[in-house]
Amino acid sequence: MKIPSFELNGKVALVTGGTKGIGFGMAMALAHYGADVAIVGRNREDGAAAERELKAKNVKAKFFAADVTDKAEVSEVVQQVADEFGKIDILVNNAGMNIRKPLIEVEEEDWDRVLTTNLKGVFLVGQAVARQMIKQNYGRIINITSILGTIGLPNQTSYAASKGGINQLTKVWACELAPHNITVNAIGPAYIRTPMTKDWLADPKRYENIVGSTLLNRIGDLEDLAGPVVFLASDASAYITGQVLYVDGGWLVR
Ligand code: NDP
Repeated sequence: MKIPSFELNGKVALVTGGTKGIGFGMAMALAHYGADVAIVGRNREDGAAAERELKAKNVKAKFFAADVTDKAEVSEVVQQVADEFGKIDILVNNAGMNIRKPLIEVEEEDWDRVLTTNLKGVFLVGQAVARQMIKQNYGRIINITSILGTIGLPNQTSYAASKGGINQLTKVWACELAPHNITVNAIGPAYIRTPMTKDWLADPKRYENIVGSTLLNRIGDLEDLAGPVVFLASDASAYITGQVLYVDGGWLVR
């Protein structure tokens, strides 16, 4: 028996929203295990700073500016990454946002912004990268969903709808792409400390409620997602496809 490796030497990873928060942490983790990383986001200053931080670890890394909701920009950036890095082995489909409001206050514009970024963005990037991976007859797609892809919580109408959609895309793509040697899985975190959740977690009562919903009695950190993303990107997960790996401190057990 040959024990599979968690190493990612020689692999190329594209991480959307890789300039901040969870995406940046995952880019760091993939790079640590040997992958070259292309990170995508809209803000060029954040992108340049993240690229510098990755390069300081002696890895091949490059920031590409693109908005994942724009089909032309997505096609162009995926082509640029493939041209510059030679291929795309790993996609972390992570860029996302949230607008939290009670159902009766959600504006049509709020719904459109969240669904367009979180669901259409994942679709557009996944489609463009899948075309490249099919040519290579190899790929690992990792969509970033949430515990809200499967449970309900107040104030999350648009966000939960987008993440439920990502869970479904993960299953459909797993079915379609398996013949091309491409696995498709998702990671579903509970609350992780990032720029997106900073203000939401600042309320002490809400913070205590969230911590109390986990079995491990704490909020998640970027480090908690490093092992899961490397596992799903590596040969160690070769026989796993169509799954959501919840990284939630035990939240969903209850
Ligand atoms: P952050 O707000 O900290 O980072 C979001 C990243 O996505 C940034 O790099 C941002 O860069 C990029 N981004 C946002 N919109 C676009 C866009 N239209 N085009 C390209 N890039 C974009 O968020 P988190 O790190 O907290 O969240 C990352 C993912 O993890 C999201 O999908 C989120 O739903 C999910 N998640 C987060 C949890 C948490 O507790 N933090 C829990 C569960 C899931 P820029 O603004 O420059 O474009």
